[in-house]
Amino acid sequence: MSERLSERINNVTPSATLEMAAKARELRAAGKDIIGLSLGEPDFNTPDYIKEAAIQAVNEDYNSYTPVDGYVELKDAIITKFDRDNGLRYERSQIVVSTGAKQSLYNVAQVILNKGDEVILPCPYWVSYSDIVKLADGVPVEVPTSIDNDFKMTPEQLEAAISPKTKMLWYSSPCNPSGSIYSKEELRALADVLQKHPQIIVVSDEIYEHINYGVTAHASMAEFEDMYERTVTVNGVAKAFAMTGWRIGYIGAPSYIARACNKLQGQVTSGANCIAQRAVITALTESPSRISYMVDEFKVRRSLILGLLNGIDGFKCNSPEGAFYVYPDVTAYFGKTINGVTINNASDFAMYLLEHANVATVTGDAFGNGASIRISYAAAEKEIREAIKRIKNALAG
Ligand SMILES: *Cc1c(COP(=O)(O)O)cnc(C)c1O
Repeated sequence: MSERLSERINNVTPSATLEMAAKARELRAAGKDIIGLSLGEPDFNTPDYIKEAAIQAVNEDYNSYTPVDGYVELKDAIITKFDRDNGLRYERSQIVVSTGAKQSLYNVAQVILNKGDEVILPCPYWVSYSDIVKLADGVPVEVPTSIDNDFKMTPEQLEAAISPKTKMLWYSSPCNPSGSIYSKEELRALADVLQKHPQIIVVSDEIYEHINYGVTAHASMAEFEDMYERTVTVNGVAKAFAMTGWRIGYIGAPSYIARACNKLQGQVTSGANCIAQRAVITALTESPSRISYMVDEFKVRRSLILGLLNGIDGFKCNSPEGAFYVYPDVTAYFGKTINGVTINNASDFAMYLLEHANVATVTGDAFGNGASIRISYAAAEKEIREAIKRIKNALAG
């Protein structure tokens, strides 16, 4: 029946991370003991002080439509946050609150791209970027990187990828899936290239800003005066505040872009959920030090999983500086046959781990880089230990 559906939707690839989670759920329902390390979701609960704010909002009868681009109090909290954490000054007219950072990204693609416009995506990139671009009739231009350069795009690579049709550059730092962080100097070097191409708008996805292990300080492209007017800073509360299901994301942007996103959202969602918005006022107003206990815990697990993975032949690990994923290069296994199963690529490898180790991970193919798999360490230590033990055993044949 798919011929009855639009070309638009038929051309969309289902989210590989959500698909892997669904497959793991299916196998669990069939009685298999699956350890899920595929989803990008903290295993913590939303902190109590944020939950209290939501309960209070319910009791205070926040139940009407909110302004399409978000409550004024929330926009002010976002303005305070940008100033406090990033040294970025925004006005209310530059802020748009959306139903998750995913919608923020979708909005930006819809309001900027015309058919055939190119968007540069350093690989590996976050799983949804290429499909969000395609849904706006844009053309993703993938720039390959490798573990040897910590999965970061060089200024030379950026320059080489730019064409007269290039409209945007999208990246996340800290990066999902690699955990890499662009330093301020590295961003400046990319900005120097962009100086020669004033038509290019940058989307800087900073949703893992607070999940930073202290090696490279967080930096924003919009910090540079010459980039401020052409950068959309995307952020949200899902990851650092353990609020994935609350669905609140936001942008700081030039006001013409913010106005356009507001217009689009007014016809599509009428704005984000009122209770979640009230809770996020508290999340962003309180000091980020209140959520650092989660980052401390992720840091312990990061060392644990890196140590365990380095004990398996053929896993070449990067040292993630942020987010909660490792992105090991597993090309050493390509072309090998284990337990009668031939592994030709990262998708085969991830499937092998699911079926023979009962561990769910995500193929690097989903992120535009087929040399690796992504393993989330947003899981309990016990589960991480057990999962890596199973992987090691399954690969020993
Ligand atoms: C999770 C994630 C998002 C989406 O965040 P939501 O607020 O849950 O929509 C966007 N970008 C990156 C890099 C992510 O990992």
